[in-house]
Amino acid sequence: MKENMDIAGLTNGFRDRLIQPNDNDYEESRKVYNGMIDKNPGLIAKCKDTADVIAAANFGRENNMLIAVRGGGHNAGGLGICDDGLVIDLSNINYVYVDTKSKTIRVGGGATWGDVDHAAHAFKLAVPSGIISTTGVGGLTLGGGVGYLSRKYGLTIDSILEVDMVLADGSFVTASAKENTDLYWAIRGGGGNFGIITSFLFQGHPVHTNYAGPTLWHIDKTEKILKWYRNFILNVDEDLYGFFAVLTIPGPPFPETLHGKKMCGVVWNYLGPHHEADKIFKPVHELKPDFEHIGPIAHPALNSMFDVFYPTGLQWYWRADFIKEIPDEAVTQHVKFGNELPTPHSTMHLYPINGKAHKTASFRLARKSVLPEKSVESTISPK
Ligand SMILES: Cc1cc2nc3c(=O)[nH]c(=O)nc-3n(C[C@H](O)[C@H](O)[C@H](O)COP(=O)(O)OP(=O)(O)OC[C@H]3O[C@@H](n4cnc5c(N)ncnc54)[C@H](O)[C@@H]3O)c2cc1C
Repeated sequence: MKENMDIAGLTNGFRDRLIQPNDNDYEESRKVYNGMIDKNPGLIAKCKDTADVIAAANFGRENNMLIAVRGGGHNAGGLGICDDGLVIDLSNINYVYVDTKSKTIRVGGGATWGDVDHAAHAFKLAVPSGIISTTGVGGLTLGGGVGYLSRKYGLTIDSILEVDMVLADGSFVTASAKENTDLYWAIRGGGGNFGIITSFLFQGHPVHTNYAGPTLWHIDKTEKILKWYRNFILNVDEDLYGFFAVLTIPGPPFPETLHGKKMCGVVWNYLGPHHEADKIFKPVHELKPDFEHIGPIAHPALNSMFDVFYPTGLQWYWRADFIKEIPDEAVTQHVKFGNELPTPHSTMHLYPINGKAHKTASFRLARKSVLPEKSVESTISPK
């Protein structure tokens, strides 16, 4: 970092903390979710509000600094942090306000999905997010956002009504279907780097107690179950979501008899009426799972059920891809590598991106103008 920068000038009027390499909390503050990422920013501006974000953005621009914006800090490649430059850390801007009349939810740019699930659940609402509650709203949303609610309510970006943003020149704008419309479309599928979103306004959806949980089979049934799943998930009612996984059972809350066992399975989330659950899960039960734990569960509990298996600070490495179908060869590879998983943290997941996610304006726009035809159709993205 350059030496002649006027950090004292930035400190005047800054509400939260400006953290430099010699500060006690620097080491802790530069950590992100993935322990593989080891970057040393010159300055971390922990922002309390939009005014702090504007001041930090102006400071970074005026001093020609590399800027990284940090939301939940979960990005696998460490995009929320940088070497030498300025990190604009939004994690303390994590408020969530629910408007019960319009059923809309306003969320601070640094909130996590656990914050949103918690606040919205009290009003029987939820926003489509992922399958873990510790991920940041900012990065997950700007990446599209797929998870338990996407077959019924679309991607996370499909529920954005409006955002407040600080642009690179320090100006503050609102983007919606009525105002700054190009920017609005950009953030609904264009990824990051259009500006710093200080506030998201989402449409909430009526979600409260789901009928959900995992069904597991011994690993030697992977071929049978995956061949069944690849057809089932394309045609089943959009009220039902399920992602496929091969995994080693890590420990509680799974029963002790299964600990350390390699298995395949599907984690389900049914959003329809509970009295219909037996009917909708009949084809699943006919496959005689070796373990199942499906039943009524509060949405925030489902969304955080597996948090414990994805702790922060471990050295994570993921790869992912979009594919249109699951050919026999992919099934064979799942059987092969499923049997070779080296640790309980090693896993392969297949997330369906179909149902409502295929029917929205943002999906059609992306299909037309951004994504190559072959990458958008359905069905899986192993992480
Ligand atoms: C354990 C785990 C589980 C996951 N599960 C899912 C899942 O189920 N579904 C899914 O879709 N994704 C999932 N992801 C991927 C996740 O969505 C991305 O890693 C995402 O980038 C995390 O967002 P973040 O805000 O926590 O990350 P950060 O590292 O803070 O940010 C990621 C990127 O977004 C930008 N950004 C963040 N906030 C803002 C903002 N307010 N304004 C402007 N730019 C911003 C950052 O600059 C950076 O480029 C998962 C990731 C992990 C680690």
